[in-house]
Amino acid sequence: MAIELKQLIEAAVAARGRAYAKYSNHPVGAAILADDGNIYAGCNVENAAYPLSFCAEANAIGTMMMGQGKAIRHIVIAGPGEHVCTPCGGCRQQIREFAGKAGVPVTIVDRDGTVLLETTTAELLPHSFGPENLS
Ligand SMILES: [Zn+2]
Repeated sequence: MAIELKQLIEAAVAARGRAYAKYSNHPVGAAILADDGNIYAGCNVENAAYPLSFCAEANAIGTMMMGQGKAIRHIVIAGPGEHVCTPCGGCRQQIREFAGKAGVPVTIVDRDGTVLLETTTAELLPHSFGPENLS
């Protein structure tokens, strides 16, 4: 395992530990390796008004935007581990916005960082709609 992936996994698992998931009891962390070489992480943040909740992936993208990152090179998602915690449909589109049409690696791990699935954004959202569709 490359050091880079190991660091990304550690960041996703650590972010999962910061999740505010009191309603679903489904804490999730996400860590992005951005084009600037930095890692940006996020966790899910739930709300008593359920639709106002934020997914970990979306928060990680927000963190990237607040830093110097402009594009996703790899994203790791750490879920509880009972099943493969793939990004929800909304997050697939949000990740696609910054991952490009060709796609980037997506690694799903459990709470301990064990890899459960290695896929790509292109596999998760085939025939996707992106920024180039509006140019
Ligand atoms: Zn989501």
